Amino acid sequence: MSKHYDLIAIGAGSGGLSVAQRAASYGARTAVVEKSKLGGTCVNIGCVPKKVMWFGANIAHALHDAEGYGFEVDVKSFDWGKLVDAREGYIKGINDWYVTYLDDNNVDLIRGEASFADAHTLEVDGEQYTADHIVIAPGGVPTVPDIPGAELGITSDGFFELTEQPKEVVVVGAGYIAVELAGVFNALGSNVSLLLRGQHLLKNFDTMLSDTLMDEMQAESVNVMTNIQIESLNKEEDGSLTLKCGSGITRTGLDAVVWATGRRPYIDNLNLAATGVDVDDNGFIPCDDFQQTNVEGLYSLGDVTGRAALTPVAIAAGRRLADRLFNNMPERRLDYDNIPTVVFSHPPIGTVGLSEDEAREIHGDAVKVYSERFTAMYNAFTERKTKTAMKLVCVGAKEKVVGVHIIGPAADEMLQGFAVAVKMGANKSDLDNTVALHPTSAEELVTMR
Ligand code: FAD
Ligand code: NDP
Repeated sequence: MSKHYDLIAIGAGSGGLSVAQRAASYGARTAVVEKSKLGGTCVNIGCVPKKVMWFGANIAHALHDAEGYGFEVDVKSFDWGKLVDAREGYIKGINDWYVTYLDDNNVDLIRGEASFADAHTLEVDGEQYTADHIVIAPGGVPTVPDIPGAELGITSDGFFELTEQPKEVVVVGAGYIAVELAGVFNALGSNVSLLLRGQHLLKNFDTMLSDTLMDEMQAESVNVMTNIQIESLNKEEDGSLTLKCGSGITRTGLDAVVWATGRRPYIDNLNLAATGVDVDDNGFIPCDDFQQTNVEGLYSLGDVTGRAALTPVAIAAGRRLADRLFNNMPERRLDYDNIPTVVFSHPPIGTVGLSEDEAREIHGDAVKVYSERFTAMYNAFTERKTKTAMKLVCVGAKEKVVGVHIIGPAADEMLQGFAVAVKMGANKSDLDNTVALHPTSAEELVTMR
């Protein structure tokens, strides 16, 4: 006998948990299937452990900066393993909390790997479960380059398994994960080379952000190497790694090579063929603006959709889907425009809306840009002269703000409020009419001329 639900979510990550909890809050009979730890990528091998390491890296920077403020600091050591233990203990607390949370919210937890028997029937460990609505939210996994010896490297998943700090590290990639992990390793004392196949970091971001980040990472002694074609990875007799690249470039004596070369959707064992659901060439499951796939009653959510792979996006879309299905809100959906995002690089980046290049492509001469570049007061006293850079991209006679881009200390915390303003359709004059907070870096955003 199969058990029937109103809604089952596949995956207890950001998307699956949010849609299940919200659906259950409306009285829907709801379950979530999870093959691994509750919380998914974000909690276990993504945002949360990454942010802990980023905080650790910030402390390393602060210790270095302290001298400029009159402190004589003698840092005896840094214990990577101790930080990792504390981090994993924190995450275990979140995992355990989710068990109670699901119980308290009347969401059944089905442990195991789900696969489809048909569009409305799932099999998990030999048991069958049926549902009127099935939300496919299995997230993604890292990809590794197709080169000999790639298995000797690690991905972000392996980064979170490191219990000892590698001293000589190569990070390959130029996206979010590459710059975040390279920044952490570097601040915590590893020697880091960051290998880009192209010329730019974060190539889809405003060029002010990617160029400034490149300068700042180099100033912080990250060895950024551009136009590198990786060819093979070998393990030497002494256990160290050798990475061979095109043009005769070879890196030897490496303790770790981290592939930060992108992620793919994890649909491997879902048996989607039994459902008739469309899958694109990259394995993503396309959906319309309402998370609806081409099959009635089947929805895709989160990273598996191939759109804006961010935790708050998966959560917001999941909650809205449940509102639509179970709370009589037929038009409820996530608006994917103007999604803010933060990169936890060193220094961090906060960005929302159109880059200058995107705006010029769409609006041509109607674009007006305001920008600032300065050294924040904090850095006036430190050896590290970290730059802060800001840009407002405005359009039309009223100078509607269509992009806000910030890099520099605290950019991560600065952006949220400005994202509200952009979402509300603020004009430059609205920013000008806002009284500044002084002395802050953020005040520059409302005083630009
Ligand atoms: P996931 O969170 O990946 O959850 C999917 C779940 O489904 C997993 O638990 C998996 O085990 C389970 N599953 C898969 N298949 C099955 C199956 N067949 N049966 C049962 N269970 C299954 N985003 C941010 O917004 N901010 C950040 O700072 C940030 N940092 C990140 C850092 C790293 C290193 C990484 C890798 C990602 C980061 N992200 C960040 C992205 C964020 O983690 C994802 O966008 C988010 O987790 C996607 O949620 P999801 O629900 O789609 O998938
Ligand atoms: P990204 O898409 O951001 O970056 C992938 C990078 O891999 C690109 O820079 C690409 O280079 C490079 N690359 C791909 N193949 C190769 C290759 N063979 N050799 C060298 N470089 C290669 O993916 P990530 O894995 O970094 O992150 C995945 C997603 O997770 C992000 O897009 C983001 O949505 C989310 N995320 C969010 C975070 C946050 O919110 N702070 C943090 C971490 C992840 P090129 O630029 O030349 O194309």
